[in-house]
Amino acid sequence: MPFNYEDLAELIFPEVKETVADLEKRFPPRDLPNDAFVTRFAPSPTGFLHTGSLFTALIAKTFAKQTNGVYFFRLEDTDQKREVKGTGDKLCHELARFGVVQNEGYMGDSKSEVGLYGPYVQSKRADIYKICVKELIKKGRAYPCFCTKEDLDELRAVQEMSKVIPGYYGEYAKCRNLKLAEVKKLIKEGKPYIIRFKSNGDHNNFIKVHDMVRGELTLSENDQDVVIMKSDGLPTYHFAHVCDDHFMRTNLVTRGEEWLASLPIHIELFAAMGFEAPNYAHLPVIMVNDSETHNKRKLSKRKDMEASVSYFIEQGYPVMGLIKYLLTIANSNFEEWLMAHPTDDVDNFKLSFSKMSLDGALFDLPKLNDISKNVIAYMTKEELFDKSLEYAKEFSMELLNFINEDKEKYLKILNIERGGEKPRKDYVKYSDIYQKVSFFSNSIYESRFTKDLPFPENLTKDDVKAVLTRFLEKMDYKVDEQTWFNDIMKGIAKELNYALSPKDYKKEPQNYKGHIGDVAACVRVAVCLSTNSPNLYQVLQILGEKEVTRRVKKVIE
Ligand code: GLU
Repeated sequence: MPFNYEDLAELIFPEVKETVADLEKRFPPRDLPNDAFVTRFAPSPTGFLHTGSLFTALIAKTFAKQTNGVYFFRLEDTDQKREVKGTGDKLCHELARFGVVQNEGYMGDSKSEVGLYGPYVQSKRADIYKICVKELIKKGRAYPCFCTKEDLDELRAVQEMSKVIPGYYGEYAKCRNLKLAEVKKLIKEGKPYIIRFKSNGDHNNFIKVHDMVRGELTLSENDQDVVIMKSDGLPTYHFAHVCDDHFMRTNLVTRGEEWLASLPIHIELFAAMGFEAPNYAHLPVIMVNDSETHNKRKLSKRKDMEASVSYFIEQGYPVMGLIKYLLTIANSNFEEWLMAHPTDDVDNFKLSFSKMSLDGALFDLPKLNDISKNVIAYMTKEELFDKSLEYAKEFSMELLNFINEDKEKYLKILNIERGGEKPRKDYVKYSDIYQKVSFFSNSIYESRFTKDLPFPENLTKDDVKAVLTRFLEKMDYKVDEQTWFNDIMKGIAKELNYALSPKDYKKEPQNYKGHIGDVAACVRVAVCLSTNSPNLYQVLQILGEKEVTRRVKKVIE
């Protein structure tokens, strides 16, 4: 008697009454223009947001956005042993910080889902997967497998000995040929089983697949009878990907290139289900040079702080710094665009597959720093005020105290050489601010004050004293920067025999005590306690006459 697949399907899923045709009706094709991409980010809730995942999500979101499509979030929680509770929400939060917000799907924080193609959490889709598996069994393309772990270990040993490709396939797929009566008996006995796909492929045949990034690929056909449903009734990644992306009507799957190896499985599964496969874009992964082996390797959760997006947040990188940096990895022409449009919204850049690199990009911290510096430099003072305050509240008590001491003053400090064509590039990240400007606080000035201040080494104590004394006499807070420099600072230099430029000094050093830079340095060190400070004129203006005089007098004494 020929094997009756219908009977087998009924035996395994007697409770499943709906069919794939019903699902097609429940999840109709989306009403979108032809060229609109429906993309998704589909993380497993197993931990923090990986930098590589932010990259993938950003690309998925961008392609959907620039084609007026839909970008949705699906939580892939079928591996319930690995799930870490609460991480789904955390992922949503972290992505939202970067402006990568889903139009649809799982929204985090136990908010209700948005969209008509849900549920968007895989563990809530068990009934859908069962309908699909039942259909495959009916078609003779899936079967229960009763092999135990010991059976599989034994199989592996046999395959190793005979030097054949390992796996559950062809003649090695023992449970493929079980008779219906046997299956019935085993199920009645309560023997645990899983469901496997029955592959028709041959490893020696090749298929052609188009990848949006890599072009046409020639890959070996799948021949493995992969597991599609585990004993807990939940699907494996392979099967869930096929059912979900079909019924959620995804037409562009953007995922890490590590999935390329399983692509032939997915292609065969789509065909077996009678579904059209989506477009695929296998994205480059982010790499680092291993400090020990000096070899390129993937960013690792365990070894690299940069692997976790939260590291950049805690360090105080502006989110747009990281986004722009990731876009330089995504498209080779982005950097050029950024240089021409430093303040434009990145949404004005058109991301394309043709400019995407195939190889894993090396993580480049100096480049990220440079980009972030520009991002902060081009912020308005109000924007930097808000963002750095937000940062301080979460991560920096000292900056928060500093800001709270005098908010108006803080705003003025942030405004130093801001705006205009060539803003000053002082800060790579918000955490740099405190270190550079905390001297403005009177109490911090007091606590840091020492007798060994870094005045120019070519000057004696008396020279410094003379400069500072003259400065107090001549300083006028009402004049503009030009006048201040030309009349007051240069005036002091002339009177006390300092060259008016370093060049003049170099020509005849024997004729001078030093140059104008030394005069400014005396004032700077007295007021800021450091040889490095933001624009001195503005520092003096913000501190004001009373405080500057107090500080300078204190130093003279
Ligand atoms: N859950 C899979 C992962 O986290 C999703 C891969 C995909 O985008 O299809 O790697």
